[in-house]
Amino acid sequence: MNLSDPLLSVFRADWFDWRRSATRDSIVLFGGTVLASVLAHVYELGSHLSQFGMAYSEWELDDIIFVAFALSMALMIYSVRRYRDLANEIKARAIAERDARDLARHDPLTGLPNRRLFGEKLDACLGGVSDTHQVAVLMLGLDDLKRIKDTHGHVAADKVLCEFANRIADLLRKDSVLARIGEDEFGIIMQDIRSLDDPTNLASRIVASAAEAVAIEKVSAELDVGIGIAIAPSDGVNLDELVRRAHRALYRANDDGRSRVRFFESEMDAHVERRVQIERELRSAITADIIEPYYQPLVSLKDGRIIGFEALARWENRTLGHIPPDVFIPIAEETVLINALGDQLFRRACSDARTWPETFTLAFNISPIQLRDPTLGLRILSILGQTGFNPCRLEIEITESALVNNIGVAKAVIDELRQAGVRIALDDFGTGYATLSQLLSFRLDKIKIDRSFVSRLNKNEDGRVIVRAILGLAKGFGLTTTAEGVEDTEQLTYLKANGCTEGQGYLFSKAIPAADIPALLNHMPCDFAAA
Ligand code: C2E
Ligand code: CA
Ligand code: CA
Repeated sequence: MNLSDPLLSVFRADWFDWRRSATRDSIVLFGGTVLASVLAHVYELGSHLSQFGMAYSEWELDDIIFVAFALSMALMIYSVRRYRDLANEIKARAIAERDARDLARHDPLTGLPNRRLFGEKLDACLGGVSDTHQVAVLMLGLDDLKRIKDTHGHVAADKVLCEFANRIADLLRKDSVLARIGEDEFGIIMQDIRSLDDPTNLASRIVASAAEAVAIEKVSAELDVGIGIAIAPSDGVNLDELVRRAHRALYRANDDGRSRVRFFESEMDAHVERRVQIERELRSAITADIIEPYYQPLVSLKDGRIIGFEALARWENRTLGHIPPDVFIPIAEETVLINALGDQLFRRACSDARTWPETFTLAFNISPIQLRDPTLGLRILSILGQTGFNPCRLEIEITESALVNNIGVAKAVIDELRQAGVRIALDDFGTGYATLSQLLSFRLDKIKIDRSFVSRLNKNEDGRVIVRAILGLAKGFGLTTTAEGVEDTEQLTYLKANGCTEGQGYLFSKAIPAADIPALLNHMPCDFAAA
């Protein structure tokens, strides 16, 4: 929000008004004086002609009286004008102050109350809350706004946001309050709810309304909205506590999936506390360098041989036990600890991979957050140099979201790495939102078919159609393919028959510590040739 602009224009207008009125007053004053002296001299001349011979001192007194009279008239006019100007100035300042107060309490894009006014209104509602006068606070999070901004630009995203705000406003009772309280977050206060059905019904209607397509420019977008709900007095009667709990319910709704609605539950507090604890432990684990890479084999489907390993982070914590990467990687991303953790794991993986047979590749996951850093390419290349691992044996795995967000930096880093001989694989293919043209604008070497598609291979025809289409697409563009999460021979047979080049999954092996790799290679000299 930019408060300074409107305020500045009011004060600028004030300044010009003042300058104009001051000039006018000076002209009036000066003109009055000149007029008075002219009149005095006309009078003096007349007196000379008509009363020739009279004493000069009598004319001088008349002159002085007249000039004094003219001056006092001019001063009176000046005072009246100044008084009027002052009154206008006070009025203008009062308007400017009111505008500034208004701006400080409203969102300039949608015109809705902002977080501050939302808090004031909620505080006022909570004053009269009781078991018979319950208040519901709904926190709405728009999942797709960032994607729309990245794909269609700021103007389109702003239009979508305003359209969403209008739709929600139409669903509310008159005594409810809708506010924009964050970049892609809205808050609603529902007063005097009769039962939990009231906020539940409203939330369902909001989700349904958001799912109706919004036309922006030439594109049509549907929105996913997660909703968290807290109720006063049962979840708290204090403003901060209620808002925090509605937020916690929203986070949980987002964790559950798209367009979910969750009421606050007390175990959510425990969940947040655990997250805080994991973050604290993660910081010390990085300092102590105790998170280590495990390795899962990548198998050639042509001859069943192991051709490399993907490094997957593993963390055993003394107090919290085993923490899976699905839990700590997102926390590392949110706290940007992922850069330090990523470098640390990559250094260890390169050192481990140097002991493998010369032909083996190392696949390493790079998070979208890491790809926002323009120095990433340089850091990867310098670790390769320090550990003596050949860049041509490295495969970087990136996800679609890394290519959609912050395209410029991602492209530059990828180009830098490719020039050094590093290959680029697109991980979890099919789960993101990138358009085909966005994907093709990056030079990729491999597509990794997400395991959600592989697991559907022996469930229904749809799964088989999707996998066949992906394999055909990759072949058309000359890309190699890895099927992730291969768990049984039926899946493997289908993948081989349809030209998938590599497989990875529990059918071959789980991720194992570096120390167990020689044993795996020794006990399976022909690797998975039988598969
Ligand atoms: P991902 O890159 O898609 O890794 C594959 C995940 O699938 C791994 O889970 C692996 O253990 C699991 N998996 C492999 N084969 C099978 C199978 O046959 N069946 C099933 N059900 N699962 C299988 P993991 O190790 O828990 O890693 C989860 C995710 O965490 C990874 O997904 C990756 O996105 C992220 N991750 C792991 N390590 C790192 C890392 O060092 N850096 C970054 N940035 N992300 C990492
Ligand atoms: Ca991966
Ligand atoms: Ca994957």
